[in-house]
Amino acid sequence: MLLVRAARKLYNLPPQKWGLSVEKFDVIIVGAGAAGLFCAAQAGQQGLNVLLVDNGKKPGRKILMSGGGRCNFTNLYIEPAAYLSNNPHFCKSALARYTQWDFIDLVGRYQIACHEKTLGQLFCDDSAQQIVDMLVAECEKGNVTQRLRSDILHTERTDAGYTLTLNGAEVQAPRLVIASGGLSMPGLGATPFGYKIAEQFGLKVLPTRAGLVPFTLHKPQLEQFNTLSGVSVEAVVSAHNGTSFRENILFTHRGLSGPAILQISSYWQPGERVTINLLPDQSVEAFLDVRRASNPDQNLKTALSQLLPKRLVEIMQATGDIPDVTLKQLHTREQTALAERLHGWQVQPNGTEGYRTAEVTLGGVDTHALSSRTMEARDVPGIYFIGEVVDVTGWLGGYNFQWAWSSAWACAQALVEAK
Ligand SMILES: Cc1cc2nc3c(=O)[nH]c(=O)nc-3n(C[C@H](O)[C@H](O)[C@H](O)COP(=O)(O)OP(=O)(O)OC[C@H]3O[C@@H](n4cnc5c(N)ncnc54)[C@H](O)[C@@H]3O)c2cc1C
Repeated sequence: MLLVRAARKLYNLPPQKWGLSVEKFDVIIVGAGAAGLFCAAQAGQQGLNVLLVDNGKKPGRKILMSGGGRCNFTNLYIEPAAYLSNNPHFCKSALARYTQWDFIDLVGRYQIACHEKTLGQLFCDDSAQQIVDMLVAECEKGNVTQRLRSDILHTERTDAGYTLTLNGAEVQAPRLVIASGGLSMPGLGATPFGYKIAEQFGLKVLPTRAGLVPFTLHKPQLEQFNTLSGVSVEAVVSAHNGTSFRENILFTHRGLSGPAILQISSYWQPGERVTINLLPDQSVEAFLDVRRASNPDQNLKTALSQLLPKRLVEIMQATGDIPDVTLKQLHTREQTALAERLHGWQVQPNGTEGYRTAEVTLGGVDTHALSSRTMEARDVPGIYFIGEVVDVTGWLGGYNFQWAWSSAWACAQALVEAK
């Protein structure tokens, strides 16, 4: 037997080829990220024999990186309108059944201190590691078997259920959950596995693209703005379809970033412009009228530097967007045009930084093929899709983790009912 095991290891062969039995579970979950860990814990604690498989050497790698190492694990204001999907109603059921308050309650039970940073975003006071430790502890409570560093070489469906050939074992279960995430950050283990499995079983996969991602700019614009790298401004950024976000924008050496830009990137299509209101709280015309009355000889640039970062004003003057005149020399027509530019600065991104830096992947497994109550494929019994692999993408601010928790919880309840 020892020899057989050694040969199996050497040639990377599944056990039954050598007369060893296939390991059987109630459910196999692929992906030990946010959704997979939470689903495994919930199903395990309700008595299911769960196998959790991941290609990485540690569970929850994205969680560890998230929120600048402090994990923005949910948002106080979760609502379906904060999610993009080809089927906007799909996320409603899961979000309503396992809410932000449920997850906040769990975090509280583990005495993880947290705080609201802005706009309802909840972060750990100390470290994202606490969220991973909590999820791992929840899995241990559910006696979940974890198999890390596992590549899945083959997946098939037979009368006995789903059989997966891993790089050292053959495992089988009547139910299979795909929680393998999207394509963002390949350095953290992202693969197209989930989409390929969906296609293998005849499910439609909607085109994917990077979301919550910085914009790159065309070379001439980048050259104009390159000394602005590091400057940030609170602004309202609007997409072609009218969606807008009010938060900071940040000039970078590659283009534009900051929360307002990341948010709008999910609504942006190549070739489109975005509109940036650099002074959302202030009427430029009213401000200049008052200034002109008290100080007509003041340079326009100096006056505007009261409202905007000086470096930005200087660059906009160099590019001709802000005329080099005093306030009394500024004609009414010029002033109106200037106000239009500052309240509606038009930027045409060259592209985005792509999956390398994107926080999420838009698109994915078409929700029309899934039950919104259980996450199970309607036409392929026993296979479920949860988390980011599904065509549901949240805003920046804890919405994506909440989708992972809610969809995982809905799936786990269905797995328990199905047993
Ligand atoms: C840098 C960064 C910061 C983020 N910050 C936040 C935040 O603060 N708040 C928020 O709400 N969202 C945040 N997000 C988004 C959030 O991390 C994801 O939406 C969430 O992790 C999705 O959970 P998931 O379980 O579906 O996928 P993932 O967490 O990506 O987990 C998928 C797992 O599947 C494994 N896997 C992939 N392919 C295979 C394969 N072929 N075989 C075996 N295993 C495989 C991966 O290794 C991974 O462990 C951030 C994302 C990034 C990249």
